[in-house]
Amino acid sequence: MIDLTITQALEKLKSREISATELTRAYLDRIEKYGADLNCYITVTPERAVADAAASDARYAANGALPLDGIPIGMKDLFATRGIRTTAASRMLENFIPEYESTVSQKFIDAGTVLLGKTNLDEFAMGTFSKTSYFGAPVNPWQMEKRLTAGGSSGGATSAIASGLAIGGTGTDTGGSIRFPAAITGLVGMKPTYGLCSRWGCVAFASSLDTPGPIARTVDDAALLLSAMAGHDPKESTSANAEFHAHSAVSPILGDNRKLRVGVIKEFANVEISADMKRIFETRIADLKSMGAEIVEVSIPNILDALAAYYIIAPAEASSNLARYDGMKYGLRVDGVDLIDTYKKTRAAGFGDEVKRRMIIGTAVLSSESYDVYFMQAARVRRMIADSFATAFGQCDLIVCPSSAGTAMPLASDLSPLEYYALDLFTVAMNLAGVPACSVPAELAENGLPLGLQVVGPRFADMRVLQLAKHIETAAGIDNRPTKIMGK
Ligand code: GLN
Repeated sequence: MIDLTITQALEKLKSREISATELTRAYLDRIEKYGADLNCYITVTPERAVADAAASDARYAANGALPLDGIPIGMKDLFATRGIRTTAASRMLENFIPEYESTVSQKFIDAGTVLLGKTNLDEFAMGTFSKTSYFGAPVNPWQMEKRLTAGGSSGGATSAIASGLAIGGTGTDTGGSIRFPAAITGLVGMKPTYGLCSRWGCVAFASSLDTPGPIARTVDDAALLLSAMAGHDPKESTSANAEFHAHSAVSPILGDNRKLRVGVIKEFANVEISADMKRIFETRIADLKSMGAEIVEVSIPNILDALAAYYIIAPAEASSNLARYDGMKYGLRVDGVDLIDTYKKTRAAGFGDEVKRRMIIGTAVLSSESYDVYFMQAARVRRMIADSFATAFGQCDLIVCPSSAGTAMPLASDLSPLEYYALDLFTVAMNLAGVPACSVPAELAENGLPLGLQVVGPRFADMRVLQLAKHIETAAGIDNRPTKIMGK
C-alpha cells in the first residue's frame, strides 16, 4: 500500500478496494518503525490521523467523498495547525500551540486529507540541509547507510515522502526549499507562482519570497495537491486572484505538431555542475527536442547576481518578521532583570546560530548607512531579474535548467555559511521573479542518487510548467517507490 501514488490510492479508495483507515494505519505503522531514525517528523499526530481517516471512510460510505479524501499527508511544521504544536523547528516555538489554522492546512482539511504529522525543517526555513533544525536533521532515505541530507528547508517532507512515511505533503520555498530537497530525494517539488497559495498562518521568513507548494512522488500527484492548496485568500494581502485546478491527470504539452519553445539559460552554461548533471541535462533537452520542442537560448543577464540579491533581501525581511519573538506574546520567554534584558535573554536562548546570523545581516543591510548600497541595490537587481524573465518568456514558452549542481551530500559535510548559500544558485532567481518552477526527477547519477531538473514558466503558467515536467518525468522513468528506495 505504501508504494501507491496519490492518484492510485484515490482510485482504490473510490472503488472501496482499500479504506482510508487501512491506508492511514499502514503509514502510522511505518512511521513507528522508521520515523525516529529518519527524524522526518517533529510531531506525529496518530489520534488526529485515525479520526480523519474514519471521517473519510464515512464520507466514502455516504458517497460524499471530497477531492483528496483519505489521503495521508505530512504538513511542514511551518504551517499553523489549530491545537497541534507548530514549532518552525525552533526552540523559540518549541511549545507553541496555535489557536488558528493556516489557510493551506485548512484547505487540506476541506479536501478530506488525513494529517499524519508535522514535518521537520530548517529553523524558520533558513537553510539547505535541514541541519539548522532545533530537533536535529532529517535523513535522506536513499542509500540510508551514508546518512545523506534530504535537503532543506523542507527536508522533513522529502525524507518522509521518499521513505513512504507520507504519501505527499507541503513545503515552502523562499529560495529553493521545495525544489532542492525534492531534487535530491527523487521527488517532484513545485514552487507555484508567488501568491497562488496563501501564506496566511504560515510562519513568516521572507514575506515577498515565501511560497507554499506541494511535494509528491509524481507530477500528477503534485498537481492534485496544488489544486487543494491554491486559491484566493481574502485574509492575505499578496494572495492572487487566481485558482489552479487539475481534475484528472496532467495532459501532455508536446506532440501533435504543437509548437513549444523551450528555453535554456545562457548564463547557467558557465556554472560548474557535476558531470552527471551536465550529461543528464543534455540528454533531457535532446529528448524534448525529439518530442517536437524547439530549443532556444535565452538570457537572464543578472541571474548570477541573484544569490547576492537574495541573501540581502531574505535576511532583511527575516530580521523584520522575527522581531515579533520577544518573549511577550508567544513562544519562549526567559526572564531578565528588566524588559530589555528579558528580550535579550529570550532571543539569545530561543534562536539558533543561522537564524541569528540572518537577523544580524538583515539588520545591517537595513541600517541607514547600508540601505542604499545594499538593500536598494539588491531590490534593483531583483527587478532586473524579474524583467529579464518576462523578456525571456517572450522568446520561449518554458525554461528548463538544473535544480542543483549535484546529488545529495552527507549530513556530516562541513560547509561554511557561504558554501551553503552558494548551493541555492539554481533556485533563488525564480523566487525573486515570483515565477513558478517545478523540480522533477531527471535521472539517477553514476552513484545511484537522483538528480532533478527544473521547469520554469511565466507567472500563473503553473499548469504548463507541470505539463512539461511530466514529459521529463516520463522520459526519466525513475523508480521512486519507497520500498525500493528503502529496500524494505
Ligand atoms: N536555502 C535557502 C536559505 O537558506 C532557501 C531557504 C528556503 O527556501 N526556505 O535561505
